[in-house]
Amino acid sequence: MRDRDLKGRFIKGHKKAGGFAKGSKHREESKIRISESLEGSFGIKSRRWRGNNAGYVAKHLWIVKHYGKANKCQNVECGFDKPKRFEWASITDKPTRKRNDYIMLCCSCHRKYDMGLIGITLEEVSL
Ligand SMILES: [Zn+2]
Repeated sequence: MRDRDLKGRFIKGHKKAGGFAKGSKHREESKIRISESLEGSFGIKSRRWRGNNAGYVAKHLWIVKHYGKANKCQNVECGFDKPKRFEWASITDKPTRKRNDYIMLCCSCHRKYDMGLIGITLEEVSL
């Protein structure tokens, strides 16, 4: 598209206006990008800890980040001989960052525990 009106004249300021519109659009995008990165930050995520699924994931990611992957099942009555996968399980409903509020369970024990099918007798571990 040419920067001319119907009579073939150049339209003054057209380019500038277009440039400005592009500029403000760019600023909008920057704003969105910044708020997204803020949401991904630890502080905002922590406010979402409400015992819902998102909160569970946030807590799980936090514990893995700080204490590494779960590598054993602390349920002394774990029926699995050699479970292959282990997960952190929260033993409180509160948003907490204490190591003692989490236990390591194999997948099977974790599912049963979350469903309320089993109580967990914890194996003592050095923390
Ligand atoms: Zn287990």
